[in-house]
Amino acid sequence: MTIHQAAPVKDDVASTLLAYRDEFVALRRKLHSEPEMGFREVKTSALVAELLETWGYDVTHGVGKTGVVGTLRNGDSHASIGIRADMDALPIVEATGLAYASTTSGTMHACGHDGHTTILLAAARYLAETRKFSGTFRAIFQPSEEGGAGARAMINDGLFDRFPVDGIFGLHNWPGVPTGQFGFRSGPTMASVDLVIIRVIGKGGHGAKPAQTVDPVVAAASLVLALQTVVSRNVDPLETAVVTVGTINGGIAANVIPDSVELKLTVRTFNEAVREQIKARIIALAEAQAGSYGARVEISYPRGYSTLVNHEQETAFARQVASRHFGERRVETDFRAITASEDFAFMLQERPGSYLFIGNGDSADLHSPRYDFNDNILVDAARFWVHLVQDYLADRNGKNPTLSAEGSDAP
Ligand SMILES: [Zn+2]
Ligand SMILES: [Zn+2]
Repeated sequence: MTIHQAAPVKDDVASTLLAYRDEFVALRRKLHSEPEMGFREVKTSALVAELLETWGYDVTHGVGKTGVVGTLRNGDSHASIGIRADMDALPIVEATGLAYASTTSGTMHACGHDGHTTILLAAARYLAETRKFSGTFRAIFQPSEEGGAGARAMINDGLFDRFPVDGIFGLHNWPGVPTGQFGFRSGPTMASVDLVIIRVIGKGGHGAKPAQTVDPVVAAASLVLALQTVVSRNVDPLETAVVTVGTINGGIAANVIPDSVELKLTVRTFNEAVREQIKARIIALAEAQAGSYGARVEISYPRGYSTLVNHEQETAFARQVASRHFGERRVETDFRAITASEDFAFMLQERPGSYLFIGNGDSADLHSPRYDFNDNILVDAARFWVHLVQDYLADRNGKNPTLSAEGSDAP
């Protein structure tokens, strides 16, 4: 892939998308008021599919349960690109007081996936109505990003075999970053997350007769301290990792030694080798610590999301698209690494691509009951997808995207 350098030129993408704006703001607010949780995005995915069909897409429903893929072909090129948006909401009681707040109590779009879905729909409409590209554009709407690994569900359902793409891209709005500012980062960008459940099993009894018991409370307490050495003593100091013991539960009365104590941990890393190293150390420490007190452990270590690793070339290309069409001042090249997790990581393990960020301005944080997606970024984010699709396909077709694209209205 070539990275083209050029001065910004003028285009009509922004004016067309601006003309759609009110319609898409209304759509975003409708999605916000009718949130659906992971793998239950029935109304949402039906609405997405219906709109894509209206605009002339080939639409496949039910990819990874409630996922939707819309395909738009134009010209004779074999080049292809996929853009992914997530559709699911969170189990949160909304406290925004907005006119379009959730009408489903206990379910809320508190991560802006209503916005991500709307952004991709707006871009999809523009691309279908203008058809200024040669190749295949796939709009991928995934279910259950919030813990349900909907990206993996789509991949396991044959996403990239049935709907091949040369590259895959996604974005997340980011509170605290100026409205519409683009952020790019190459390499490890978001953390892996693993949940660890350790049950320390002793032998309960009377609190006054500890010698007749195997006390799991003491063994668990010792284990909590030992776990603090995993990051400080085992992991390379130049790597980033987190081991947090978030819960410790056991016992019901001061004068009773319980049979067992349960610990729950969250583990975050930016490197799969470190992730494996930490897993091995936690298991070894738990067994040895418990064993030294005559107790034993049962460990459940379900794998969560992998580290999200952005591909260097695709990230550089996407960054170039942003600076070409929005100007260098709107682009942050070395965006921070984030200890939150994101299942787009699984898509980036299958195809080259990049996950980028767009500032949501001064809003409440993601997953806050007071969060709301910033509608003022809809047009620019959709415009970025349009330019990325046009420029990426032009580049795959051996054309200089700065010449084939309509250009830019960047400052
Ligand atoms: Zn989220
Ligand atoms: Zn999210």
